[in-house]
Amino acid sequence: MRESYLLALCLTLVGALAAISVLFLRRERVLRRALMQDELTGGLSQRELDRRAGAWLERARERARRGAFFLVRFEQYAEICALLRAGEDRELLVQVAQRLRVTARALGGMVARTGIHTFTLCIPDVDEDGAAQVCAKLLGDLNAPYRLGGRQIIALFRVGAALYPDHGRSVQELQRCARVALLPPDGQEGASWTLFNFRMLARERDRQGLENDLRLALSTPDMEQFELYYQPVCDGGTGTVQGCEALLRWHHPVLGSVSPGITIEIAERSGLIVPLGAWILERACSQAVQWPAAWRVHVNLSVKQMEADGLVPLVARVLEATGLSPRKLVLEITESLFILHYEKHIKILNALRSMGVSVALDDFGCGYSSLNHLRHLPIDWVKIDRSFISTLESDAGSREVVSALFGLCQAMRLPVVAEGVETEGQREILKALGCRVMQGFLLGRPAPACEIQALAAGVS
Ligand code: C2E
Ligand code: MG
Ligand code: MG
Repeated sequence: MRESYLLALCLTLVGALAAISVLFLRRERVLRRALMQDELTGGLSQRELDRRAGAWLERARERARRGAFFLVRFEQYAEICALLRAGEDRELLVQVAQRLRVTARALGGMVARTGIHTFTLCIPDVDEDGAAQVCAKLLGDLNAPYRLGGRQIIALFRVGAALYPDHGRSVQELQRCARVALLPPDGQEGASWTLFNFRMLARERDRQGLENDLRLALSTPDMEQFELYYQPVCDGGTGTVQGCEALLRWHHPVLGSVSPGITIEIAERSGLIVPLGAWILERACSQAVQWPAAWRVHVNLSVKQMEADGLVPLVARVLEATGLSPRKLVLEITESLFILHYEKHIKILNALRSMGVSVALDDFGCGYSSLNHLRHLPIDWVKIDRSFISTLESDAGSREVVSALFGLCQAMRLPVVAEGVETEGQREILKALGCRVMQGFLLGRPAPACEIQALAAGVS
């Protein structure tokens, strides 16, 4: 009796142990698959790429073979997503992964999803010329339209390439080089694909250094490395100043003056534009209260400042603290702002305008808006981009575009500022087209606050 009880107990225990180990095995398999595979696309994960490509590099070293890593990234991913319906962004990533898998397989390589919208391909037996051919093939495949929810969507891509063994010997090194090759040179959009070179690494190191220096400069109590210059915005006919645009200058203790394009790009990339932008607003408003009553102050706003919460209360606080009338403040925004979070940004701009602050659309014409789009934006001014003005004298097409824009803005009672007026010829053409307000080196270069104060003293 006792023996049979013990036997039954043993059998139950063995059964339970067997069930537990099956469960563990199953869980281990699921876990291993999760580590190997990207859950969304079913392709390789970064971890699995490290393992497989690492082993491949090992073999390539022994057999003196070459190879290349390609980092593939969406161009303007957020903008594309803004066009998609819920879930379609995931579907798009799946389709992209499928196309890449086909190409990688055909070339005897492998592909992994190595970021939210980034993929890495490792292709054997590729030299510099081969890398160019692979990039052309990848871009050709990827830039063809995608079918999503019955619609055709075009997505554009950029590819950064790095060669083994020329640029690196480990997966990490090669991926890093390919990533650096993807960064646009000096804040400009570059070609659709770029092969890494070591000068790029130095440039990236410089940028990282600059970001660090910018952080330090922002932590000094009196922000002594920063200064605002002001450029007059004038009546193009009489030359009378109507206001000034505040333009940031960073006096780096070692490098000297850093271009505002680079400063703003680094500040945006690092998020430092939020505290820096708050300082710019505060400084511009406190200097502008000393100007003649008729002068406005234009302050540039970055998209990141709109994204961060608290812009409207910040503007209200600064106006109150400095005593500047909201009617004297013009906030300049760019068109790209409206691509993301359209509704949110419209609300913010409306809140600012209801306080009495004006909004200007800066650099109009070099972004995404169509003329028709202008009708729906809560703006008080349009500033035409310098690129149209600089070609006014030589290019009839530019004259036609500018003339069409003035016609539309006049119909909408939207005042226009022509930016970057440099010659008398441009001024005359603009006057003939009905443009009254102008800004540019012809009418006044950006100057330190004290020079603008002296100009103001002559007016009042
Ligand atoms: P923006 O807001 O369109 O400013 C006008 C830029 O055109 C200024 O360049 C100005 O110096 C330049 N400019 C004006 N007239 C002429 C001209 O006749 N010919 C030529 N060739 N250039 C002219 P800057 O100061 O280098 O600023 C470049 C950009 O950096 C600005 O373009 C703006 O987008 C950004 N930026 C400058 N300061 C700030 C700032 O305080 N905050 C933010 N968010 N962005 C700023
Ligand atoms: Mg501006
Ligand atoms: Mg501009």
